[in-house]
Amino acid sequence: MGNLPSKKNPLITDKLEIYKNMFENSKDIILLFDINGNLIDGNLAALKSYGYSKSELLQKNISHIRIKTESLTFKKQFQLAANSKEGVEFHTFHVRKDGSNFPVEVKSVALTINSEKIIFSVIRDISKRLISESELRILASIVEYSDDAIISKNLNGILTSWNNGAKILYGYTKEEIIGKSLSVLIPPKNSDELNVILDKIKLGEKIDHYETTRLRKDGKEVFVSISVSPIRDIYGNICGASTIARDITETIKKGKELREKYDELSAVYEELIATEEELRTNYEQLEESKAAADKANIAKTQFLANMSHEIRTPLNGIIGTIDLLNLTNLTNEQLEYITMLKSSSNILLHTINSILDISKIEAGKYEVVTKPFDLKVIIDRIIKELSLACSKNGLLFKYNVDSSLQFNLLGDSLKLNQILTNLISNAIKFTQNGYISFNASKTSQIGNKIGIKFSVEDSGIGIKDTFKNQIFKKFVQQDSSYTKTYQGTGLGLAISKELAKMMDGDIWFESKSGEGSTFYFSIELDIDTSDITSANSLVAADVISPDNFKNTILVVEDNEINMKIVSSMIKKLGYNFITAGNGMDAINLLKNNDVKLILMDVQMPILNGYDTTKIIRNNSSNENIPIVAMTAYSMVGDRELFLENGMTDYIGKPFEFDKLKELLSKYL
Ligand code: ADP
Repeated sequence: MGNLPSKKNPLITDKLEIYKNMFENSKDIILLFDINGNLIDGNLAALKSYGYSKSELLQKNISHIRIKTESLTFKKQFQLAANSKEGVEFHTFHVRKDGSNFPVEVKSVALTINSEKIIFSVIRDISKRLISESELRILASIVEYSDDAIISKNLNGILTSWNNGAKILYGYTKEEIIGKSLSVLIPPKNSDELNVILDKIKLGEKIDHYETTRLRKDGKEVFVSISVSPIRDIYGNICGASTIARDITETIKKGKELREKYDELSAVYEELIATEEELRTNYEQLEESKAAADKANIAKTQFLANMSHEIRTPLNGIIGTIDLLNLTNLTNEQLEYITMLKSSSNILLHTINSILDISKIEAGKYEVVTKPFDLKVIIDRIIKELSLACSKNGLLFKYNVDSSLQFNLLGDSLKLNQILTNLISNAIKFTQNGYISFNASKTSQIGNKIGIKFSVEDSGIGIKDTFKNQIFKKFVQQDSSYTKTYQGTGLGLAISKELAKMMDGDIWFESKSGEGSTFYFSIELDIDTSDITSANSLVAADVISPDNFKNTILVVEDNEINMKIVSSMIKKLGYNFITAGNGMDAINLLKNNDVKLILMDVQMPILNGYDTTKIIRNNSSNENIPIVAMTAYSMVGDRELFLENGMTDYIGKPFEFDKLKELLSKYL
């Protein structure tokens, strides 16, 4: 200690050593100032706290280490310290060498040494104490303003603290409740709860989220979830308990509602399960019924195919005979009767074909056959037919074919033809006055694919609004009384719609009753980029060559009438022909005759048409002879079956003179 006087007395010297040690090693900062506030000495704690070396510290004045406060200047402090025996005690902030400051508690006392006054200050860093005090204040305010009720009680159940949350939950103010027993909050039915809780607490146990009810000041019960923990004194002994209580009335209410909802849903679920079971049973029954219906449908289709065969064979005879009669010399009266006969037969044939088509569609046996074809041939035929019909019926005929439309296309020309034929025959059938107009236009082209829209417009009877949504249904006609006026089965549009669907096309219409109708048919088709000429061409050469007689045709047919009709027609056309009653005879005849074309029945005794064709094809000299099947089984798709079996083409019975003519000129 720099300026402190020392005496030579050894006891004093020892004491001085002790004081010096105490001074140096004190945890508190100890500073000595002269009357002007200049530092005279400072201990190790001072050097450590302010960050100065000893020599630096001794250069300093109180003004360097204390933040400036107007309230207590050093002079004032000095005077206060000098005037009071106990000295002065105050809080302030001291500044470190690096400029930072820290809170201190200062105790200063004035001493007179060798008639000089000095100030002796013991300074304690109280930053840690301040922090924990402020933490405590924060915690206290958290507790006070928590939404949960936080209370404490002693081991007798007497309430010792009460926060704002408790006031809100139970309705009592702090002043009203502190000092009272917790039992005021416990409903009589739970009265033993207090002792149970206190017993657990005394054992040092905690209670977590215990759900119970409590009594509010207004007498109402509230549902609460409480957690209770023991409180220990500074010696570790349990002296009370703290309780956190949360109002769960809403949660309980929600839970109750949810449970009710759950029960309701469970009931609905049970009902659904029962319904599902019922549905499953119904479904199984339906499946069984469907299987039975499918079976019946297959049987129906088969029956129709058989029936049609049975009806077509005599019909072939009738139509063929009519055609033959037509070629003889007839009186005008006979010609009139023949025309009526032909018309009725054609209607009958059309009806059989429609019934066959719809049952085949229903049985899913109708297939789309994509092949190269010439659309121009179809359009030409339609224009020809329409213009003929219009001039016959005194109607105006208009048509327009888009010049940008490509004609060499890939698609199912037979189905396309069938749809357009149906639309134009309806237009002809239902129009007495005015006009019919036919249009074909290209609607799109993406790469090789083109969109085509056909429309057939007429100024006929039109379609009533009430009938519009029926029109594509099977067997429906606008008015049953019409059936007397307009012939038909009510199947044409149903078949057309299905055929269009199969080809990813569409059919629709616009119509006003009494004013007319426009039917549209749209389809997308690929352009045929190959050079193959149309196999489905509907055009046949009109001119018959005088060389026809040089070509011999072999007709293989077991039915005598049919044979007679076919042979008469061939004769009329000027071709040579030989006949065989079954396949075996045909094979024998082929050995000795130069046959250019074979017309072959399919169903025959001894050797049928398929097997005969196979044998003929296996003979190298006959493998290229065109073989045309003649059959009454003419459902779409049959053609493919015949071709697969080595036949070149097929002609459906009953065939007409013109059809045969067309076919023969195609192959000969
Ligand atoms: P069908 O012509 O054999 O009766 P469709 O299925 O082709 O059968 O037509 C069903 C019905 O739709 C017809 O009977 C007719 O009432 C009505 N219909 C079809 N096309 C026309 C049209 N162009 N004008 C007026 N009515 C039509």
